[in-house]
Amino acid sequence: MLRCREAARLVSKSLDAPLKWKEKLPLGLHLGMCPRCSEYRRQLLALRSMIREEMDRLLHPADGGDEGLTPEEEASLIQAIAQSAQ
Ligand SMILES: [Zn+2]
Repeated sequence: MLRCREAARLVSKSLDAPLKWKEKLPLGLHLGMCPRCSEYRRQLLALRSMIREEMDRLLHPADGGDEGLTPEEEASLIQAIAQSAQ
């Protein structure tokens, strides 16, 4: 049985990279039996999605507004990106 400390380590690791099955399996078992660790995981996930939304808002402030690109601008932007990728 995984200890809570180890489970917490795996939970935060799983946010950065997918776990191997050898880690995922015991972690899943632990989370199923340990309300404290599954709550910890829930909070970490909530925090992460909050940060992502905030980053999104900062990076794309015009989203949802009418300041977006025209279809022509979008097409030429896509073309420029495609060319620079070659
Ligand atoms: Zn635990």
